Amino acid sequence: MCGIVAYIGEKEAFKVLIKGLKRLEYRGYDSAGIALINNKETNIYKCQGKVSDLENMVKDLDISGNIGMGHTRWATHGEPSDKNAHPHESMNKYFTIIHNGIIENYSKLRKSLEKENYKFTSETDTEVLANLIEYVYLKAKKEKKTISAREAVRTALNSVNGAYGLVISCKDFPEKIIAARKGSPLVIGISNNEYFIASDASPIIEYTNSVIYLNDDDIAVIGKNGLNLKNIKNIIKTPHIQKIDLKLDEIEKNGYEHYMLKEIYEQPRAISDTYRGRLNYESKFLRLGGLHNVFKNLKDAKKIIIVACGTSWHAGLVGEYLFEDFTRIPTEVEYASEFRYRKPIINKGDIVIAISQSGETADTLAAIRMAKKLGAIVIGVCNVVGSSIPRETFAGVYTHAGPEIGVASTKAFTTQITVLTMMAMSVGLANKTLSKEQFNSLVEELYLIPKKITQILKKAEQIQKIAHIIKDSTNSLYLGRGYLFPVALEGALKLKEISYIHAEGYPAAEMKHGPIALIDEKMPVIVLATKDKSYEKIISNIEEVKARKGIIIAIVTEGDESIKKIADHIIEIPYTDFSLAPLLTVIPLQLLSYYIAVMRGCNVDQPRNLAKSVTVE
Ligand code: GLU
Repeated sequence: MCGIVAYIGEKEAFKVLIKGLKRLEYRGYDSAGIALINNKETNIYKCQGKVSDLENMVKDLDISGNIGMGHTRWATHGEPSDKNAHPHESMNKYFTIIHNGIIENYSKLRKSLEKENYKFTSETDTEVLANLIEYVYLKAKKEKKTISAREAVRTALNSVNGAYGLVISCKDFPEKIIAARKGSPLVIGISNNEYFIASDASPIIEYTNSVIYLNDDDIAVIGKNGLNLKNIKNIIKTPHIQKIDLKLDEIEKNGYEHYMLKEIYEQPRAISDTYRGRLNYESKFLRLGGLHNVFKNLKDAKKIIIVACGTSWHAGLVGEYLFEDFTRIPTEVEYASEFRYRKPIINKGDIVIAISQSGETADTLAAIRMAKKLGAIVIGVCNVVGSSIPRETFAGVYTHAGPEIGVASTKAFTTQITVLTMMAMSVGLANKTLSKEQFNSLVEELYLIPKKITQILKKAEQIQKIAHIIKDSTNSLYLGRGYLFPVALEGALKLKEISYIHAEGYPAAEMKHGPIALIDEKMPVIVLATKDKSYEKIISNIEEVKARKGIIIAIVTEGDESIKKIADHIIEIPYTDFSLAPLLTVIPLQLLSYYIAVMRGCNVDQPRNLAKSVTVE
């Protein structure tokens, strides 16, 4: 969600900023802007629209300066517009600021600043903060007190509620920039006499792999020759420099037309990376190092609660089936946003598993903080190494999917399920709720998944033909039972996210309690109907759809003859154990959504209104 990039060093800042903003585009945004600082002069250029619009806008303008900041905005307060775009300046132009997040008490602060004769040019919460910092700064000066820009920022932030990742410059100190974080991620890249600040590492890695992740309440003052880190209480902190292991080609398209397609095709590799070094085929050995500290608690848990949002929540639902089947530990799955505002019943020793691709999802982060307070043991399942959730949880398992840039999640989903499968398998084996034979056969099946996904990906052309037939639909229904019910939800989510076709996922048997009323000859119904214990029942559901003339697209097990006779289209996929079927059945659904969206001319990688990592509530 929204992107921040800033630079201070010897290079022309403009080039670094524009390139950085392009790398951050995948996060989703509606407007873009930059500020270039050249001694006492600050030039700000911003507009609604794309980074390329901004580039065109500044063609003949002054873009000089070795210090600067760039922002892609995902509007929360005030519509997407030129004037609401960042950077924002304080009224007397002392401070320039870019912000990711939300200042929750902005309205109250704005009113009190208005009483001090402050005027506002935008509707944003960010401009309120810019003016608040300036107000603190000028008031101290008026009272003839010495005040640094950092002190003004620190004092202002002390009266702010909400979340922020901030980059700020002050015209009295044009050789320095300030970075502050609470809730919204910021990472600082360090090279020779130059620093890069960004909301994730993607704009930084082509220059350096030495980084510092800011923690909540950190305020850093950065000059060309050094960085000084303190927290909001003014306590000096020692920056912890880490090496990141992210390569440039991992965040580029590598010949694919879209990131989403690249990421769909990366799934065989991503899944083997998830179990590599953890699961051994020959010895049937499984060890999740990140759970070492909590494994006994997990094994003895009376209850597991999985919290997540969006696609990760769907992975969590698959996790519920896995944990109940393999471990017999009661498991619940909660939307993080609901969980955090209820009074959830957590007893000491209960396990909370938080799933988030980015590791920055605001609601999930808040849910784990609450769960920790209530005495739960919290385990993270995240993709982005070093992100907030892994840093705030007792233990966890990285999915190792590699960077996911497409907003619609694909490989994050399948690798999250792979992690949950391995977790449930290891607990099940330890608790003897899963026999050694079952365990061994699951290890073997899991090993075969990447190969089977590769086989499914070869059906892309056939799936493209089906996409062509249903691309103009306005509604669609996805049905599945058992382990495949969450996959139906995920298939529907993929379609609506990127093609804007209304889609609903349902447990197949629930269809007759409502959605069946929608079925007519124009309604595509995508049914997950692989061979498992509910196979006969799903055939009956298909018949019910057929009787109402719905267009049936069935995902079936290779060699299925019965469904072929009743469905309009079938996509055959290889057999696997029913508990692993989500990993295979979701692949054709991802491809189907992708092709439909492309055929409808939609922006697949950056669907409208959506952001990649949702760092606001
Ligand atoms: N709340 C700020 C705004 O609406 C920042 C949004 C963002 O994170 O991009 O301008």
